[in-house]
Amino acid sequence: MQILTHLCCGPCTAYPLRTMREQGHSIQGFFFNPNIHPYREFKQRITALEALAEKMGLEVEYEREYGLTEYLRRVVFHEEQRCRLCYTMRLEATAAKAKQIGADAFTSTLLYSRYQQHGAIKTIGESLARQYAIPFYYQDFREGWQRGIDMAKAMDLYRQPYCGCIYSEQERYDKKFRKGKK
Ligand code: SF4
Repeated sequence: MQILTHLCCGPCTAYPLRTMREQGHSIQGFFFNPNIHPYREFKQRITALEALAEKMGLEVEYEREYGLTEYLRRVVFHEEQRCRLCYTMRLEATAAKAKQIGADAFTSTLLYSRYQQHGAIKTIGESLARQYAIPFYYQDFREGWQRGIDMAKAMDLYRQPYCGCIYSEQERYDKKFRKGKK
């Protein structure tokens, strides 16, 4: 199958890409992540993905517009639901693009991360598959968590310390916030 794959970042791409290629699929990458803030972090993740794409011979279409405003308009006043809204934003753009280019299916490297809400990503992907009439390729790539990390290290890729949005950046670095969560 030709699978349009939403890429959240370079490190999370390594294992799913290798696995799907080993299964005989043809992979085309799509970087669409308006959730990544601040701007310098957004640029850094694109640079890391470009490095991986070159090393692994992957064709990628990049949405290089910084999506802070669009992302915030979706999540403000809905912060508790922000991850679901964030997955929907990114997967919906991927499903629409997959349909537009005539791919056989779409998927996401979000299915690789142990830190994401895996069940929600699967549910949203399957729902969008029905809406856009294109299959969502599901695989639990978390099985290759350590292998993916090893691949990213071997390629010397930048590995980000937080998920992406400004909320997750605060959760990672604000000690008072982290104390309050305990
Ligand atoms: S924590 Fe990650 S998945 Fe959740 S809203 Fe922020 S960037 Fe998106």
